[in-house]
Amino acid sequence: MTNWHFAPGRNFECSQCARCCRGWRIHIDPQTAQTLQSSPFRKQLEVKDGRTFARKNAQEECTFLTPQRLCQLHSQPGTGAKPAGCRQFPFRLTRTPDGIFVGTSFSCPSIQSNQGEPLATYQAELESLTERLPLWGESGVPVCPSVLLDWSEYLRLEKHILERETVEIGLAEGLWALGQYALRPDRPLEGYLLQAAAALEPPDEPLMLMEHHWFHRLLAHCGEKSARAPSRKAPPAELETYLRALLHGKILINHRPLLGNLALLHLLPSFYRFWFDQSGSLDHALDLCERKIATHPNNLNELVEKMADDFRDQLDPVL
Ligand code: SF4
Repeated sequence: MTNWHFAPGRNFECSQCARCCRGWRIHIDPQTAQTLQSSPFRKQLEVKDGRTFARKNAQEECTFLTPQRLCQLHSQPGTGAKPAGCRQFPFRLTRTPDGIFVGTSFSCPSIQSNQGEPLATYQAELESLTERLPLWGESGVPVCPSVLLDWSEYLRLEKHILERETVEIGLAEGLWALGQYALRPDRPLEGYLLQAAAALEPPDEPLMLMEHHWFHRLLAHCGEKSARAPSRKAPPAELETYLRALLHGKILINHRPLLGNLALLHLLPSFYRFWFDQSGSLDHALDLCERKIATHPNNLNELVEKMADDFRDQLDPVL
């Protein structure tokens, strides 16, 4: 029997605001694409780099969104005809050796405001979406291309991050320790984590990260010209909640090696502060963090890989 892990105290109920139907490229999984390609809906699809997407209208909305703000596929032929990502949203399912962890997208206003039913209420609906979920971590978690971490050691890293005074401090220590492990994997990660907790100063946020070379490179990749130190104070409690939710959803082990994912998550608070400072809106900051950083990770693969290499190469190994 599969164990399901829902974040405790988190709730959701769809308000049909249709935010998830606009702004981003809506990917159609291969099986759904094959069905839709042989239906009258094929004109509403486009193929780029071998992947199929829903076309968008002039308002950047999904072409399947009706004037009544409902999904055309949902009403006819039915919810089963919708792409897997749309059926899953705002949930993100990650299968691990310990069961399925249910992450959530903070782009969804209901998830942000924690409105509705406990997440576990949706388990029966989500069960039908697990058939093709890949299993992550069974033969270890890749730290970088040549180094693996046992699943139990990965859990130890995550626990360390979550148990520090703030998740941000935990991420800084975890990144340093994992970088050391990448250089000397013959020693246990635990020792590096203890050293990090004893010796590292808490990050001098937000200025330290704002000056970070990689923050500016990623910012440019996200279409932003330049950053300055934030003048408005972005809500720290919401950031902490968001980072905890991302970790619960196992964002660190998905799609890319762990060191790059951890480096990216370490930079995410700077993006959160930058986008909050620009708009004064928590909703806007969380929405952009999701759209640009957390949800479409393939766009960032190359940059994140280079960032991990750079970080490891510049680290002074402990003797
Ligand atoms: S963004 Fe959330 S609340 Fe709005 S339609 Fe999508 S799932 Fe429902």
